[in-house]
Amino acid sequence: MSDTVKKRRVLLKLSGEAFGAGSLGVNPDVISALAREIAEAAKQVEIAIVVGGGNFFRGAELSQRGMDRGRADYMGMLGTVMNALALQDFLEQAGAETRVQSAIAMTQVAEPYIPRRAERHLEKGRVVIFGAGAGLPYFSTDTVAAQRALEIDAEIVLVAKNGVDGVYSDDPRTNPDAHRIDRITYQEALQRGLKVVDSTAFSLCMDNGMPMQVFGMAPHGNVTAAILGADLGTLVSN
Ligand code: UDP
Repeated sequence: MSDTVKKRRVLLKLSGEAFGAGSLGVNPDVISALAREIAEAAKQVEIAIVVGGGNFFRGAELSQRGMDRGRADYMGMLGTVMNALALQDFLEQAGAETRVQSAIAMTQVAEPYIPRRAERHLEKGRVVIFGAGAGLPYFSTDTVAAQRALEIDAEIVLVAKNGVDGVYSDDPRTNPDAHRIDRITYQEALQRGLKVVDSTAFSLCMDNGMPMQVFGMAPHGNVTAAILGADLGTLVSN
């Protein structure tokens, strides 16, 4: 008999910066702790994840230093695949079943991105990790998170941030008067030029009515709580 109770389905965006804990490469302790939080929540919620790659390469930065932008962006996308594999490893150690799907074909390490198959994995309780971004230069993994959430019919994009716990009125690192905003519309976030997520991601969510919750990864437990539906950080919607 099939399970007729529809589970909550979320798309979690994890930045590469979090994986590297501020330096180049991956920090196993950080990823392991994150994986345990996700595995805990995966008992109740269908979880798809888009991983960033900023702990390896950002195409825009490499191109400013003389590289061809498209090639540099492909390096950035390959970095996200390394993060996806690291996360897969620690998720499995934490007892979760997982699949990695890559937007760039590399069949030895990941399935190709097939949205219907991803949905099937989710229905079976597997955590699906999307690597290689959209497979397209000039895109960011924030935008991919919005696109994948729409395509697999997730109910929300959860953007877990490192070092900040939501959307602020200004950059809290430079303006001590900046305050956290609990709720904001996409229109206003775009008009005010708030950069916590890139504007293409905001626009895609706005145009398609996909809500987004921006919250801090710290303290430990926040990621599990957000996946389960806790009202943390900032809700961005129409
Ligand atoms: N990237 C890309 N297309 C995509 C996704 C990512 O070209 O669809 C490249 C881009 O160079 C980007 C890098 O991969 O700078 C790493 O992704 P991102 O900067 O979004 O990672 P995060 O900031 O979340 O760690």
